[in-house]
Amino acid sequence: MAPGTPDPQAGKGMRFVRRVYAMRAVGLAIGFFAVAAAMLEAGVPRWLLAPVFLHGFVWPHVAAWWSRHSEVPFLAEIRNLMIDAALGGVWAACMKFNLLPSVLILSMMSMNNVAAGGTRLLLRGLGWHLAGALAGVLAFGAAWHPEADLTTIVASLPMLVLYPLALGRTTYSISRRLAAHGKAVEASSRLDGLTGVLNRGYWEAKLAEEFQACKNGRRQAASLVLLDIDHFKQLNDAHGHVAGDEALKAFAALVVQHAVQLHPPGRGEPRQCLVGRYGGEEFGVLLSGANLTQAVEMAERLSRALQPGSGTSVEIAALRGHTASLGVAAFDTRMQGHQEWLTQTDRALYEAKRAGRNQIRINPA
Ligand code: GH3
Ligand code: MG
Ligand code: MG
Repeated sequence: MAPGTPDPQAGKGMRFVRRVYAMRAVGLAIGFFAVAAAMLEAGVPRWLLAPVFLHGFVWPHVAAWWSRHSEVPFLAEIRNLMIDAALGGVWAACMKFNLLPSVLILSMMSMNNVAAGGTRLLLRGLGWHLAGALAGVLAFGAAWHPEADLTTIVASLPMLVLYPLALGRTTYSISRRLAAHGKAVEASSRLDGLTGVLNRGYWEAKLAEEFQACKNGRRQAASLVLLDIDHFKQLNDAHGHVAGDEALKAFAALVVQHAVQLHPPGRGEPRQCLVGRYGGEEFGVLLSGANLTQAVEMAERLSRALQPGSGTSVEIAALRGHTASLGVAAFDTRMQGHQEWLTQTDRALYEAKRAGRNQIRINPA
């Protein structure tokens, strides 16, 4: 990396650090009792409990602090996990490989490592665990005492019961967050990035669904309105693209506001209006449950709201005097597909443009 280039990984993994911190604080604290009981059972010098105590109750806080202050917290936390694995090996040697707590420590660390970095980190952790155990054997001598007395068994129980519960709880909250994230991504993939109304693909898919509902008789009526801002290019040319974008957002907001207001959900027939961005400065409103008369009424009131001087709203101001042309077409059983419905509405819109703009046309006229 060139000097001065920011590390792309910098700051990565703060959430991971928080997660591991919680798990480590729980796991090592309850692990302390299992290890301490087994060490006492193995008859090791009592001073050896001091480093185990530090590992259990002080290290989790130091580790989190250390990771948070590292350039890449994620990598720092992986290093900390390897330190845990190595120390776990040392404690296993000190316990003379008392089988129950040794296996518990090994499985707890392996769970952490496989959850954080898959099989590769699991193997790396096992390597460090083995190295720690070897160091422990070299420092304190090789001894083998696999049986656990009742004290050690009882002291191991919290780890056996509580740690998997804590891990399950963490997994549950991660999956909940992922599901919420997935839903948000799905919702945003349906929207137009600039105006926030439905994007063309999704809007057209809904139109196709509505068409089928009408065709099958599940919907009694439905109408389509297409709107196109008049002389929009001139607004861009005169005031720039940023002003043009602002005008588009304002126009979309105005359409949504009026479409929803003028086409509220009905009591019997299900009614909803779906506003989508059909093209650059062209929008579509699908009014399900609305017959032609109702749709034209809505279009007229919307068109009136768009007249310069009709109000003092910021939306009207952003449009800088630009009006819109509207085309309306109701669903007709003779139509072959939703494309035909769109074409007919577009033809009406074209007629409105040809007749001088700032007006509404219906198809069939
Ligand atoms: P007409 O009355 O016939 O509809 O004329 P018009 O100028 O509105 O129509 P035309 O199709 O000639 O021009 C549409 C313009 O809309 C051209 C394009 O630059 C602009 N436009 C399309 N999408 C965007 C956008 O996302 N932002 C901005 N600022 N302008 C856009
Ligand atoms: Mg236009
Ligand atoms: Mg256009």
